Amino acid sequence: MQEKKTNKQPSINNVEHLVRDNIKKLIPYSSARHEFNGEASVFLDANENSFGSPLNQNFNRYPDPLQWQLKSSLSTIKGVPEENIFIGNGSDEVIDLAYRIFCEPGKDNVIICPPTYGMYEVSANINDVIIRKVGLLPSFQLDVIGIMNAADERTKLLFICSPNNPTGNNMSRLDVEWLLNNFQGMVIIDEAYINYSRQKTFIQELTEYPNLIVMQTLSKAWGLAGLRLGLCFASDFIISLFNKVKPPYNINDSSQQLALLALQNTSQINDWIKKIVEERKKLVGLLIKFSFVEKVYDSDANFILVKVKDAGSLYQHLSQQKIIVRNRSKEPGCANCLRITIGTPEQNELLLNALFTYEQ
Ligand SMILES: *Cc1c(COP(=O)(O)O)cnc(C)c1O
Repeated sequence: MQEKKTNKQPSINNVEHLVRDNIKKLIPYSSARHEFNGEASVFLDANENSFGSPLNQNFNRYPDPLQWQLKSSLSTIKGVPEENIFIGNGSDEVIDLAYRIFCEPGKDNVIICPPTYGMYEVSANINDVIIRKVGLLPSFQLDVIGIMNAADERTKLLFICSPNNPTGNNMSRLDVEWLLNNFQGMVIIDEAYINYSRQKTFIQELTEYPNLIVMQTLSKAWGLAGLRLGLCFASDFIISLFNKVKPPYNINDSSQQLALLALQNTSQINDWIKKIVEERKKLVGLLIKFSFVEKVYDSDANFILVKVKDAGSLYQHLSQQKIIVRNRSKEPGCANCLRITIGTPEQNELLLNALFTYEQ
């Protein structure tokens, strides 16, 4: 697509009309600790156990509903002000809240671009939101014209996954920028795998685009999938909507405390990212040599999509060797494709050995 900067009126009015009326009018739950802002030492306002918790750690207290310490740390790492960060109970909560904020059940629609992450569709179905599918091109790039043709005045969201799961590629930055300038709904860019990508993040562009929502997660490169921490970056206006609609204590205190500790280990994380990118390169080079491998797709993520002669039989073979990969054969454009997460050098060695025995 050409780089065009037309139709662009960066103003809050641009997106306010996309918000559901009931959400605009919503008076959010106000927690006990919300209403008081001063210095207090005796907390008898929330019916907690005043004697304590069997675990110490102040777990008898309700957690900070807005996770300010964690946001302050994220703000430093990501270079985004705290007010532009929302933390969800996994990205799945962010996706669900986006539907509930913008989409009138049974009336509004959203656009997804398969093959892509399954939760966009599941969450739409849960919220009774109409899905319009505009498949990726054979290159796995966005069909920008198809997207514009599929959109109407009830199209509230466009999900762009980049790097995309399960294909592993980045979406062209020019295409995404063009859509940010011309698509008339919210553009949600899911950057779950951004740490492994050669493409740069869109979180620095929030002031440029009022219709931009970027999702990231601590589940992948940060190694915290078990804590359930999904990140969302957007304008102050959009973030305030997420804060209004979320359950008051959506992030539990142990997750907040542990994530705060984990975020001090940036050098460990950067080291792992480097190693995974090296292993990815090594694996791509080795996989392509097997006679049953038809294609290894270029990846900017911590997994690779591999097209083989018979994905079902290879999947069976690997699982007999206790190696589990993901069979994506049923996804559009992914016939006979397996998605393989990059393991440690030892795990990758086991995978390669199992592939050798399959070849014979
Ligand atoms: C893994 C993944 C996520 C992360 O989901 P969490 O709920 O944060 O664990 C988000 N988007 C995509 C595309 C993913 O593959």
